[in-house]
Amino acid sequence: MTNPSLLILAGDGIGPEVMTEVRKVIDWFGAKRDLKFDVSEDLVGGCAYDKHGTPLHDDTMAKAQEVDAVLLGAVGGPKYDTLDFSVKPERGLLRLRKEMDLYANLRPAQCFDALADFSSLKKDVVAGLDIMIVRELTSGIYFGEPRGIIEEGNERVGINTQRYTESEIDRVARSAFELAMRRDKKLCSMEKANVMESGVLWREVVTEVAKDYPEVELSHMYADAGAMQLCRWPKQFDVIVTDNLFGDLLSDAAAMLTGSLGMLPSASLGAPMANGRPKALYEPVHGSAPDIAGQGKANPIACVLSFAMALRYSFDQGDEATRLEQAIEKVLADGYRTADLLGEEGKQPVSTSEMGDAIVAAL
Ligand code: ATP
Ligand code: MG
Repeated sequence: MTNPSLLILAGDGIGPEVMTEVRKVIDWFGAKRDLKFDVSEDLVGGCAYDKHGTPLHDDTMAKAQEVDAVLLGAVGGPKYDTLDFSVKPERGLLRLRKEMDLYANLRPAQCFDALADFSSLKKDVVAGLDIMIVRELTSGIYFGEPRGIIEEGNERVGINTQRYTESEIDRVARSAFELAMRRDKKLCSMEKANVMESGVLWREVVTEVAKDYPEVELSHMYADAGAMQLCRWPKQFDVIVTDNLFGDLLSDAAAMLTGSLGMLPSASLGAPMANGRPKALYEPVHGSAPDIAGQGKANPIACVLSFAMALRYSFDQGDEATRLEQAIEKVLADGYRTADLLGEEGKQPVSTSEMGDAIVAAL
């Protein structure tokens, strides 16, 4: 049997710094758990533009299509702000998502016990929270036609169109039900069927897909009520599935119930490949953080947790993913904190590499 393949695209800014720590974790799994990966590395974003004049080379795109999973760091930085739109670093990431057709964006909102007392950060977090939002990523109002700004009489009109086909709803709903089966078997679908035709269809199709997952308890909520419930009592949810626009808002809101941007992983999944696993790209939610890049300050946990998601969803290694998450829980319980996890009082933060080493030691 060949080893599962993983393409690492570390990218720009703190991307390579946090990815160095993930490599330590990958090496540990290879050495101690006999879980070996064929790891290849390539460029995406500004660094790819510097070398090739494009934020994603065709060869890199082709590699991404072939591997079992892609793990990405972050792209962009002030150096590239003046580039033409067509070669901006972010376009590299968008091309990956588009050509791999990654339609289901999984954003966990999980609060580690050790960070539950976040009073030093002056943030309110929800202890014990563990929910997952599945956002449709490739359709909806961000892509629907017609769109644009047109002249109408003596004024201009800005137009976007919310548009979903049955098959687009069906496939993202299936991703969400599959996920719910691996978790608490509870799924809440959110739309605005009371005022939007796409919402009516969304509810209909999700209800139809539910017949294939009789074990999953399905509920529906209007997205505005859902936003309210998410703030009021987030723990009532396990998996939430929603469209591109609502998912954008709800996943950012849910993320902030957990603490720092440096802690949040994500997965973007597409259609099943020949081996039955979905096409997949894993990345931290945070960006390239140019303000702290190159200073050893970045928190590598979001990227390490993204690898944990890869273990679970691409490599069928749920137990090993849990092992890794527990190691992170332990490191946090032992008091290790990168700067973003500290408040104003004078505790000394650990560096990016010290955090990575601590995670490996805890493993
Ligand atoms: P993008 O447009 O790529 O999303 P952004 O500027 O909106 O970038 P980030 O790059 O994620 O967002 O940075 C937002 C803030 O969070 C910055 O102050 C950054 O230093 C901080 N930050 C982001 N990621 C981390 C991390 N892993 N560790 C510590 N701080 C982080
Ligand atoms: Mg941003």
